[in-house]
Amino acid sequence: MIFREKLDKVKKAMNKIIFDFDYTLLNAKKYRESLGRIFFKTGVSRKNFEKTLIQAREEGLFYSLKRQISLIKKVQPEIKIESLKKAWKEIDGEMKKFVYADSEEFLKKIGKKYNTFIVSCGNEKTQKHKIYQSGLSKYFKKIFIAKTEEKSISIRKIIKRSEEAIFIDDNPFILMAAKKSFPNLIAVRINRGQGRYSKDKNKYPIDFTIKNFKELEKILNNENFKNRKEKSSRNH
Ligand SMILES: [Mg+2]
Repeated sequence: MIFREKLDKVKKAMNKIIFDFDYTLLNAKKYRESLGRIFFKTGVSRKNFEKTLIQAREEGLFYSLKRQISLIKKVQPEIKIESLKKAWKEIDGEMKKFVYADSEEFLKKIGKKYNTFIVSCGNEKTQKHKIYQSGLSKYFKKIFIAKTEEKSISIRKIIKRSEEAIFIDDNPFILMAAKKSFPNLIAVRINRGQGRYSKDKNKYPIDFTIKNFKELEKILNNENFKNRKEKSSRNH
């Protein structure tokens, strides 16, 4: 490998940002609420909606919208499959509305400077479909759907063990686990005040906690961030 190529490789590694999807780029709470509202219109009862929502996640499987629809059909066979399919289309059409207001602008801004990736966990088809419908997929070099809550297997496809990259997630446990596997990962916890982990304190080695992407932008441009990186590389 010629020297120039090596330099390019280092530069690339320094410029990778990995994003989580739900509660990082997309307001999953709003999505879930709309899902309910749209299904209620087809005649699905609240009780059956909640029940099938839980059932669609059972047996260690991740939630799948397709699975929920077939479960709804079982408990309320009087609902026509056409109206359920129509509801699905309606949800797809609304997906862009659930993207956090600052997500697209931020991705546009950093697109030239950084290689961006999504590592989301869940049912592969459902998650990929959600991401595609959100209109954000064009901003990412590659999208990975992790099959377990542990994202390290997917992150390994993006970076080497000692490589440096920025990883943003709302789940502090995922960040902690990822840092164990990738010691030079810069873990950024985004807490938008929503999601299962929003009340959890930072008990873990998280490098930065932010409320939105404006704050991340400041960090990326900030001297502190550069200093921190220098300090950490001195420690290794
Ligand atoms: Mg998340």
